[in-house]
Amino acid sequence: MNNGVYPVGRCKATGEGPPSRQRVAMWKAVGKCCYAHAMVSGISSQRVRIVVVGGGPAGVATARALRKFAPELADQTILLERAPGRRKKLCGGGLTGACVKELRRLDLEIRVPAIPIRRAVFAYENIRKAFDFESEAFVVRRDDLDDDLMAQVEKDVAVHRGERARSLSRDWDQLIVETDLTTYRTDLVVGADGVGSVVRRFLFGELGRKLEPVSRLYQADLTEPVREEEAGTMTFDFSVLNAGVHGYFWAFPSEVSGESVINTGVMHLPPYGSTNVMDVFRQTLQRRGYRMASETRIHSYPEIAYHPKRPISGNNIMLVGDAAGIEPLTGEGLAQCIAYGFHAGCFAKEQLGKGNTQLAGFRRRISRSPVGHEMRFARWIAGRIYGPNWRFWVDLFLKRSRVGELLSQQTQGQDQLHKHLPIFHWYYIAHKLGWRG
Ligand SMILES: Cc1cc2nc3c(=O)[nH]c(=O)nc-3n(C[C@H](O)[C@H](O)[C@H](O)COP(=O)(O)OP(=O)(O)OC[C@H]3O[C@@H](n4cnc5c(N)ncnc54)[C@H](O)[C@@H]3O)c2cc1C
Repeated sequence: MNNGVYPVGRCKATGEGPPSRQRVAMWKAVGKCCYAHAMVSGISSQRVRIVVVGGGPAGVATARALRKFAPELADQTILLERAPGRRKKLCGGGLTGACVKELRRLDLEIRVPAIPIRRAVFAYENIRKAFDFESEAFVVRRDDLDDDLMAQVEKDVAVHRGERARSLSRDWDQLIVETDLTTYRTDLVVGADGVGSVVRRFLFGELGRKLEPVSRLYQADLTEPVREEEAGTMTFDFSVLNAGVHGYFWAFPSEVSGESVINTGVMHLPPYGSTNVMDVFRQTLQRRGYRMASETRIHSYPEIAYHPKRPISGNNIMLVGDAAGIEPLTGEGLAQCIAYGFHAGCFAKEQLGKGNTQLAGFRRRISRSPVGHEMRFARWIAGRIYGPNWRFWVDLFLKRSRVGELLSQQTQGQDQLHKHLPIFHWYYIAHKLGWRG
């Protein structure tokens, strides 16, 4: 008991003396830090509800889905695209029937020059299986397509061309996106920024995950007239498996500024081993009778294969398109990117509407959607057809015409392979036991 008498300068509650100089200095420093942080992240930053990073097909589809299903969110969304104008994109430009359907679902139109495709040919050495297309499929130039798709969504969300997202950081329940022009504070970042995604790197860093190896696609445009038998035909040649490539060779008829070209390429999945894919590519061109002009260059670009267990979302984050992973059997990504965008828009509406920014459920949403089922199944087939037992599987795919038909129908968007799992199992057993039919 002190009878209400306290020594001068002491705290009534604790009885402690006045704070030391060091303590005062420390609290001043903490105050300055808080102020600086508020300046950087709070006051000088712009508040938006959603930031879509990347204006490729996946970003564009997300923007359109938000406008269609959550206009109140679309009004508070910005789309950042680092390229100030038209950007060059390495691609086969194949728009399958499935892709055309996905685009229509979001009211996105194909308004660029497009070569109609009437059939697909699956080949291995001298075996050639042709399947006629009943639905629409096209080959386009990606530069044209991407530019036009972006123009189609310019009224849907605020599009910021020429602004690159540099880094992300977290501030409690929000994300701070720093670009080369300014800083945004947001509830949701949709990573549609392709295979080298900064959003994906941030998400994986937060989850403590390693980035896994990616597949590689090699592409070259050959300036020569399309042969009669290849007109309107997408060719997929699996003979490159003989040379140790875990993938296939493609040849699609295309056009650059009205001039006929053949868009050729090779897809190669890991593990890589010692195969020189560039050499195999050149040899395949030669074997198929193509002339490679001296100025023709082969370019290569990585792709991430979809894995149903890999995280593609987290707190305030969703990945779509290449950043999340695409179909690993053919490397087709456009139909998948548009579907990812569709689901991202719907999921954002549902979750942000409930005030929930914990979006880990987006992974399950995708894996249970038709596109997720297809990518899972394609992954399963890719593991077999490009795996050690590939001879058996290629034989099965080329000799059992029902299996080839199913593949072709899937490419046309008329059917889904995962729905026919029993047929695949039946043909596997029949082929293993050497039964005919
Ligand atoms: C050689 C090759 C051939 C292919 N052929 C076909 C085919 O025939 N058919 C098919 O369906 N698919 C094909 N694909 C796959 C398809 O091209 C991709 O799946 C598709 O482009 C992915 O779209 P995306 O929007 O996810 O990413 P991208 O098209 O890569 O778009 C990402 C966008 O984000 C922007 N960006 C990146 N980082 C930032 C940043 N930090 N800030 C702001 N913006 C950023 C980029 O500029 C770009 O515009 C092919 C791929 C390759 C490599």
